Amino acid sequence: GPLEDPYVAAYNHNTAQWTGPYKAGISELGKDLTQPKNIDNHGKPTMLIDKLGYIHIFFGGHGGDKRHGKNTLGNGHYAANKHAVSKRPYDITEWEELNAIEPFGTYNQAIVMDNGDIYLFYRHGAHRSDWVYQKSTDNGRTFEKPVSILKTKKRTDIEATDSWYAYVSKGQNDDIIISYDYHVCWNMKATDRGHTTERHDAYYMVFDTNKNTWRNVQGDALTMPLTREVADEKTLVARTGGNGFWTFNGSTHLDQNGYPHIGINIGKDLGQKTGGPKQTSHYRWTGSEWLGGQPVYEQAREDGTDTRGDFIIKSPTEINYLLGYKENGDGIISYYNSTDGGQTFNKGKELLRSKNAAWSLTALIDNAHPDARIIVAEKLKSSNWRKLYLVGDNGPIQREKSSASVLTKADQDHLKKFKAAHELYKKNKK
Ligand code: ZN
Repeated sequence: GPLEDPYVAAYNHNTAQWTGPYKAGISELGKDLTQPKNIDNHGKPTMLIDKLGYIHIFFGGHGGDKRHGKNTLGNGHYAANKHAVSKRPYDITEWEELNAIEPFGTYNQAIVMDNGDIYLFYRHGAHRSDWVYQKSTDNGRTFEKPVSILKTKKRTDIEATDSWYAYVSKGQNDDIIISYDYHVCWNMKATDRGHTTERHDAYYMVFDTNKNTWRNVQGDALTMPLTREVADEKTLVARTGGNGFWTFNGSTHLDQNGYPHIGINIGKDLGQKTGGPKQTSHYRWTGSEWLGGQPVYEQAREDGTDTRGDFIIKSPTEINYLLGYKENGDGIISYYNSTDGGQTFNKGKELLRSKNAAWSLTALIDNAHPDARIIVAEKLKSSNWRKLYLVGDNGPIQREKSSASVLTKADQDHLKKFKAAHELYKKNKK
């Protein structure tokens, strides 16, 4: 919402009624007069419902900064990672902020286990920071200190630092499963392009939260935090094409045998800071080896179409992707289905199409109603605002536009005040 504060909306499938959006907290992002024009304040919000029905959101984190003290597990960037909880169970109308998590953090991913324990995973700062988790055994009211799982480390062979991007999901029983890719975090002067988003390869590991032990896909024990060397030796899923191809990590889910499947986006490096368009590709563990690497959207490899998506596993060989991409100028969200374990995919039901749309997709919602599997943001060329869709097997859930675009008087005043202050700041700077 305005000035990057988090808002929550709800849809009731039985009554077909929307409520909200309600403001759920105040972000440190979006309110700084000195921030540059090109803002990267994603804040990566995430949400869960605890065993008592309270709704938690974790938001506004972009690595933390000096105002919050020293980051002992990495470097800093901006703002604070924050946590808010609904005042009443299953009710989004009122919220309170808790002071239970560390300010350093970004890419929040929260999981509630069957016994009610909550695990919050995140990167503990900017690129050169460990990935950690904090555990709560009291429904998110307090959290234990962060525990490092993926280690950031200066390389001795090149002018770069080891960095990671992880996707965390619930596995079987007390397990948490994690897929990740490796970011070679170049020093600014080490390459012609300066620092880039160069990332490579796919990795996988499992956390048994009951025994507090970690293992690779073969079942060998792992010592935390994992270094790049051990990650390469014990947890590698696939080399995704060397320096000529860059990755953008996707998601992981287990099939009915308890074997992991991994989606990862792979694309040719075209010399840009971001490499180039990337194609969602699928890998699966057969019990003895990793298979796959084929792009889900078949034409992608030839024409370089950028795709993103998450997937549902119906059986070890039957995999349904919800894929977002652009085709002949149209932004499309469509199912792509495989019946041969991900070797080939065919277009299934199309769920959303919009002229010139560029999409941002969330991961699939856990325990979702089939009518509401994913949230899709449409970037509008003419506006700073995004259109948000709740999309499921019957397309987007509809809503009266007038009731969807509600800003309270307080919100509007707040926004106006900030804009005026920002104008004044720019004028004085000149
Ligand atoms: Zn970096």
